[in-house]
Amino acid sequence: MNEELISAKNKAEESDRLKSAFLANMSHEIRTPLNAILGFSSFLKSPEHPRERINEFVDIIHSSGHQLLSIINDIIEVSQIEAGHISVTIDDVNITKLLNELFILFNKDASAKNLELILNINRSADDIITRTDGTKIRQILSNLLSNAIKFTHEGKVEFAARVAKDNVIFYVKDTGIGIDPDDQKYIFEPFRQVETTITRNYSGNGLGLSICRALVEKLGGNISVNSIPGKGSTFTVTIPYESDEKEVKRDDRERPVLRKNSKYNWMNHIILIAEDEMNNYKFIKEMLSSTKVKILHARNGKEAVEMVKTHPEISLVIMDLKMPEMDGYKATEMIKEMRPKLPVIAQTATVYFNNDEVKKAGFDEYLSKPIEFNEFMEVIDGFLDN
Ligand code: ADP
Repeated sequence: MNEELISAKNKAEESDRLKSAFLANMSHEIRTPLNAILGFSSFLKSPEHPRERINEFVDIIHSSGHQLLSIINDIIEVSQIEAGHISVTIDDVNITKLLNELFILFNKDASAKNLELILNINRSADDIITRTDGTKIRQILSNLLSNAIKFTHEGKVEFAARVAKDNVIFYVKDTGIGIDPDDQKYIFEPFRQVETTITRNYSGNGLGLSICRALVEKLGGNISVNSIPGKGSTFTVTIPYESDEKEVKRDDRERPVLRKNSKYNWMNHIILIAEDEMNNYKFIKEMLSSTKVKILHARNGKEAVEMVKTHPEISLVIMDLKMPEMDGYKATEMIKEMRPKLPVIAQTATVYFNNDEVKKAGFDEYLSKPIEFNEFMEVIDGFLDN
């Protein structure tokens, strides 16, 4: 009994120590981009900087913001995982297409470090299509690819997927610094790796691989590493292969049809923006300013419903979810009762909003905050007639 108590006490102390080390490292990881944002934004007002310098500052502010966002996403993800709240959305996923997209995305980062990025797929073979959660696969592979590029200084990073019996096997292989055999058993555990000196030399919060492992296991698969220090590492992910030839139904088929159009001229349209935060409203208005669209503003769900009632000429609604008096869910329900065909696009700060929830709540589409300009314009354009 005494021994059990001592072991439990040691475990609790160990966990406490790891969490303190994690918080100290995290504080550094958060302060770094925040310093850049505060520092460089204060330069924007001073008149002596030429235009090129200002552009450079804006780029730094922008990329630091993204860095901060990815840290926040990781922290939220880990807390969701620890609370047992990961949900999966299973659909047909074209793995080949997904790998091609990742190649385009990561080729820039690899080239910037003079590394060769190789996507090893058989281009004459059929696409690999399996039923799984595409967002999670993308997240797992993105994490592995960004690690591979981060920890490799010369040579190449190669990735691929193949079907073997009942599994889809992915690998991400690099010619980087490798991982010590003693550390290999820890790297998939949260909080652990932040202690190692390796993590101190490279930026990172030490959460990526633990998130990968939790997501892979949720998909019914497993992840492993094979690595030789100084030579490189290969991460292998295996998930069940489930193909369903007949299955072509996609949930977005039931939504209003998206029409593509490249130039944005919406002068004949009125868009209602339901948003209580003034700065968010101004930001959306600014993004729309070049399109000549007319804009109405509602500061809560109740006002939004009233405006849809009194302005039948409204073509589209952009709906914040969290608002005073009446939230975006209730407002959308009432708007859809009045005008079922009026497109309502949710904008949400919740990372875990997924396609199923969108449909259930009656929205036609959703945009996650922070809203990305190109995606925003494409989504809206898809719902507006010219
Ligand atoms: P982070 O990269 O943010 O520190 P991860 O959980 O993604 O956190 O990785 C944990 C640790 O595993 C890293 O800090 C690094 O020491 C090691 N590691 C992960 N991927 C690689 C790789 N491709 N090559 C060498 N070391 C790696």
